[in-house]
Amino acid sequence: MKPLLELKNVCYAYHSKGGETPALQNISFQVQQGEFIAVVGPSGCGKSTLLSLISGLLVPESGSILFAGDSSAKKAAGSGANCALREKIGYMLQKDHLFEWRTVYRNVTLGLEIQHRLNEENRITIDKMLQDYGLERFRNARPSELSGGMRQRAALIRTLALGPELLLLDEPFSALDFQTRLAVCDDVSAILHREKKTALLVTHDLSEAVSMADRILILTKRPARIRKVLNLEFEVQGLSPLARRSTKEFQNYFNLLWEEMNDSE
Ligand code: ADP
Repeated sequence: MKPLLELKNVCYAYHSKGGETPALQNISFQVQQGEFIAVVGPSGCGKSTLLSLISGLLVPESGSILFAGDSSAKKAAGSGANCALREKIGYMLQKDHLFEWRTVYRNVTLGLEIQHRLNEENRITIDKMLQDYGLERFRNARPSELSGGMRQRAALIRTLALGPELLLLDEPFSALDFQTRLAVCDDVSAILHREKKTALLVTHDLSEAVSMADRILILTKRPARIRKVLNLEFEVQGLSPLARRSTKEFQNYFNLLWEEMNDSE
């Protein structure tokens, strides 16, 4: 089966007056439709840069990024092909970027409004997601009236409303307290499975990576290369992230990851 996303020998360096900062070196991997991949690595190694390249915000210096077999990511930022690619990719960040001056409903419809795609069909999809994910009662509330977990769910609905094929999650839970974070990981994981989405999660939290992913890419320190790929297999399939945390496999994978990360420091 053709992978949804394929990176081949991707290299990237930042250039400034002060000189060159190589960020990524020869990154190659594939992501299949429906997979959940976590990316971990030392702080500052190039994880966010990797997501910016995949989303088309940055262009690789060499190598290629193929989305569903199409290499449009290689083309100059802002070109028509690049815009089309961006529509297939949703980005969720650490900050939820909900606007206080809009209601929850008008926040989740914002992306569609901007893209002039807010129609009756999309409104029905959004209403269903608000209902399914416990936000219907809050559709006319302001973001400040929501809990941290609810805010992240609203941000996720806003992203999913655009119908992305691939979701890029850049530390989306790190602003939440530990207890909320566990609950939101479960929520987000259930939503992504239900919506059959493919996702790439950048996180510095090793237990989060082991609890959510099918596969973990471990990066070296900057310039990042792929140090190791860890395929996660659990005896019981389809466990929620919280349930995974009490399995023996969880402990084993966590220890393995911990050793790899400490070796790479
Ligand atoms: P991570 O997400 O792993 O913490 P980043 O991808 O944000 O790392 O950054 C990788 C490296 O590139 C860091 O050393 C950072 O300082 C550098 N970097 C990031 N953005 C820029 C930029 N716009 N200009 C120059 N260097 C940058």
